[in-house]
Amino acid sequence: MKLLPIKLQKHALHKNPWFLGLIVFMFSVWIVLNIPIEKRKYGLSQSNLTTDYTGLLPERIKGIVKAGDRTELQRIVKEANKNGHHISVAGLQHSQGGHTYYKDSVVLDMKTFNKVLEIDEQYKTVKVESGATWGDVQAAIQPYGLALKVTQSQSIFTIGGSLSVNAHGRDIRFGPMAGTVKEMTILTPTGEIKTVTRNDSEEWLKYVLGGYGLFGVILDVTLELTENEVYTIHTRVLNIKDYESYFSNLLRNDDTAMHYARVSVAPSTFLDEMYIIDYKKTGTQDNQTPLKEEHGARIGKMAIDLGRKGGSWEDLFWENQKLLIKSIDGDKITRNNAMRGNSAFMEYTKPSRVEVLQEFFIPVDQYEEYISDLKNMLPDNDKDDDFKIHNITVRYAPKDNYTGLNYAKEDMFGLVVLIQHGLQENEMDNAEAIIQKWTDLTLEYGGSYYLPYYHYQSKEQFQRSYPGWGKFHQEKLKRDPNGLFQNIFYNYYFIEGASHEK
Ligand SMILES: Cc1cc2nc3c(=O)[nH]c(=O)nc-3n(C[C@H](O)[C@H](O)[C@H](O)COP(=O)(O)OP(=O)(O)OC[C@H]3O[C@@H](n4cnc5c(N)ncnc54)[C@H](O)[C@@H]3O)c2cc1C
Repeated sequence: MKLLPIKLQKHALHKNPWFLGLIVFMFSVWIVLNIPIEKRKYGLSQSNLTTDYTGLLPERIKGIVKAGDRTELQRIVKEANKNGHHISVAGLQHSQGGHTYYKDSVVLDMKTFNKVLEIDEQYKTVKVESGATWGDVQAAIQPYGLALKVTQSQSIFTIGGSLSVNAHGRDIRFGPMAGTVKEMTILTPTGEIKTVTRNDSEEWLKYVLGGYGLFGVILDVTLELTENEVYTIHTRVLNIKDYESYFSNLLRNDDTAMHYARVSVAPSTFLDEMYIIDYKKTGTQDNQTPLKEEHGARIGKMAIDLGRKGGSWEDLFWENQKLLIKSIDGDKITRNNAMRGNSAFMEYTKPSRVEVLQEFFIPVDQYEEYISDLKNMLPDNDKDDDFKIHNITVRYAPKDNYTGLNYAKEDMFGLVVLIQHGLQENEMDNAEAIIQKWTDLTLEYGGSYYLPYYHYQSKEQFQRSYPGWGKFHQEKLKRDPNGLFQNIFYNYYFIEGASHEK
């Protein structure tokens, strides 16, 4: 841009106020474009010292093998059995508790094993290799007017990583993700390649789905699909005490396909107010609308960074979110695009601090009382505290009869909590104490917590949350007699427990 001499600039500003506006506008755009979107440094690329998304559990591994073809994977598993080596399996490594690696293990990096193998338009199924992401699958099925039944809120995760945690998202009609699997090819701990279904008498799916990579490698999977329908977005602000009845009405009337909600963590409306976003059916199938790409990450990041300042900034952030959801009320969106939430705006890297996720599941009919107790437990303004809560999103997690390590023993709401805290020993201890107290409250209400995240909880809390853990462990010992598949998550909950519990 060619600049005017100062004298001329003054003249132009005086005569043309729009010129000043233009400069302010350009300056603002420049600032927004220059807000960095940090890329967390984690994962398998940093020599043999590896971590996952939080970087909280660095560990030295033996090496990384990029998955090529299945015969090669089978050979690696058979050799490791002979040599007494351990294997861990990694997708995108967005789990946060050392689920994808273990001390001295060989890590199978599945991201290169990512072909979409077959689409059956008539029976609405897709067969895909496990290292593909939901985004890869969406790109392949969208031209057929098809969409996924159940995914997380974002489409960045691998299929293998998602099935191994039995993830959940915004869909409220199709049950747990595990229930959308028609067939799967697995490489078992003893090196056999097997094709398994739900009717399989050996019940492999019960343990591989939600099995955290401990029962073998998922090679490919055939998933049930549905139509890529166009939805109308409906948004509304609610008082917490009206949510249970609002949601049960929503479930009863068949006109809504997807739904999620967000609870205020801003001081003035803390755990009193929430907003909901529903995706209402229109009956129109779509195969034309392009898949949306991540956009507006910088602006989203600027807003979330303001909220991170806490106090009245957080109030401002919440009020802005309410304006934002009001502005999209009535908009149209395809199912595929409703399953492609942004994620880059959440990136947060600051030395000495960490942002983590936790998720608490609570029976649907206990929600209001639970939130009221939670309100008494947590400070409404955490501006000056080390432990800060930035966001709580609510999703429906329907009863799951498919998996051995089952977080939804009945129909649950999952409260996904974004937390920030310091990394000093006393700050870690404080975070652990608060999260353990929160987990105890959740357990009192018959709830549980989600396992892909960092293990603040004790082994005892794990066992109370997952009464099926003993059977899961027996099956692990039976199906993997050499303990071939290992990760830090398994070691923590099933073997060692927290150091202070020993
Ligand atoms: C920002 C963010 C948002 C999230 N949103 C949601 C959400 O909306 N809903 C939800 O339910 N969860 C959510 N999660 C959790 C997420 O679903 C899990 O962490 C999921 O495992 C991520 O997939 P991944 O490809 O990164 O898996 P990884 O972290 O790589 O692996 C997870 C587990 O799967 C195993 N695994 C991976 N691939 C295979 C394979 N081929 N065969 C056998 N085992 C395998 C690994 O060993 C590991 O135990 C979120 C996480 C983050 C960080």
